[in-house]
Amino acid sequence: MAHDLAIRGGLLATATETYRADIGIRDGRIVTISEAITDAEDVINATDRIVMPGGIEAHCHIAQESGMGVMTSDDYESGSISAAFGGNSSFIPFAAQKKGQSLTNTMQTYDARAAPKSVLDWSYHLILTDPTKAVLAELPEVFAKGVTSFKVFMTYASRVSDAQFLDILSVAGKHGALTMVHAENHDMLDWMARRLVDGGNVAPRYHAPSRPGLAEEEAINRAISLARLAEAPLFIVHVSTPAGAELVANARAKGGQVWAETCPQYLFLTREDIDKPGMDGAKFICSPPLRDAPTQAALWQHVQAGSLSLVSSDHAPYRYDDSGKFSAGRDVNFREIANGMPGIEMRLPLLFSEGVGKGRISLNQFVALASTNAAMIYGMMPRKGTLSVGADADIAIWDPNETRVAGEMHDAMDYNPFAGIEVTGWPVTVLGRGRRIVENGKLIAEPGSGQFIKRAPLDLTGHPGQPVPELDPAQNFGANLS
Ligand SMILES: [Zn+2]
Repeated sequence: MAHDLAIRGGLLATATETYRADIGIRDGRIVTISEAITDAEDVINATDRIVMPGGIEAHCHIAQESGMGVMTSDDYESGSISAAFGGNSSFIPFAAQKKGQSLTNTMQTYDARAAPKSVLDWSYHLILTDPTKAVLAELPEVFAKGVTSFKVFMTYASRVSDAQFLDILSVAGKHGALTMVHAENHDMLDWMARRLVDGGNVAPRYHAPSRPGLAEEEAINRAISLARLAEAPLFIVHVSTPAGAELVANARAKGGQVWAETCPQYLFLTREDIDKPGMDGAKFICSPPLRDAPTQAALWQHVQAGSLSLVSSDHAPYRYDDSGKFSAGRDVNFREIANGMPGIEMRLPLLFSEGVGKGRISLNQFVALASTNAAMIYGMMPRKGTLSVGADADIAIWDPNETRVAGEMHDAMDYNPFAGIEVTGWPVTVLGRGRRIVENGKLIAEPGSGQFIKRAPLDLTGHPGQPVPELDPAQNFGANLS
């Protein structure tokens, strides 16, 4: 037989096309796409199903300690399983450096957490919290291992100064790595939070006004300027304001090497969700915070226009108990409650139902947002992110008509912030390198069957950058800046 497995009768969807074809798989890769494949050992019948590239979850926190030292409820087993049930074939959680820890040691720590447990292929974004000279010197080694993206913070205790940020960007830019940034102005947030708490406004709901959209706008503008001066590409994580998205769109329209994402919580939830009695609002504390309905509508426009390239979950699972949200105690103000909410399994069903199902985005835009753009931005093309001959057989088979009311998920959480939302369209079968991970709603893959994905540098072809005159020897009296 020419094929180990054939997917027959489905409607194929990529980021550019929708058409009827069969897919033939051998040794974990797609080897044939044709009208009819009859020579396969094993067949999956995909009649009345949509067959698309497996989702790539590019922003999630798995087996990671938060800045406050709280461990996420999900490890690589529950996290990858929940992601698979949500239509993903691979994911890129964070590997967070601790103060004083070398990057090599950071990677080893996370390899030990991921390799025995993950059912999905995985990579990491490194989180840089202690950018000493020695650590910056280690960065190229990490990039060479295939971890070609990493994140820094402009807020929290682990924030970097503008000067540190410039040094980091410069090293990254020289080695083809992508710097991701959590962009909020730390002092603006701190000033607002102190005023709220001093005035006795301590309930979880005050988390929302404590982080003004203006703080995000200011920091995104600054981050884009810093990246421009350092001549380095930049990715803005979890954009929650249209003003922020506009800055990204404007920069890119001028050649800027800037990309961004938003998250389901900013498209499907609002400030009203955090306005709950007692401590229940804690379930909706995430940063940046939930905003209002007009913000939500404007973010959808940026998703439609392509100024936001990804919709990522920012799955940050802290349970509604003393192990998570209330690890600093129950009788606390909003500043002491763990930040983040789960969503790794809901991301794609929500985006499909509210996006494709309600005519906001095309099926092809959905595939781009779910998978293809992440593969391009994070250096996984052509292995991941599309259905093409030679690509890994990372495939999600969706039933576009199945309606469910969101309830319990396969993660290790004790609540689902999207519970009760009616969603039409679910992934029923998910393959990773031709292996069945989930089939007809049942887990098939064994923990540890995922593999590390060695990623390439971001391809900047077609994104010339926005030149800064003072860096040009013809305009800076020949100064040597290298
Ligand atoms: Zn995050």
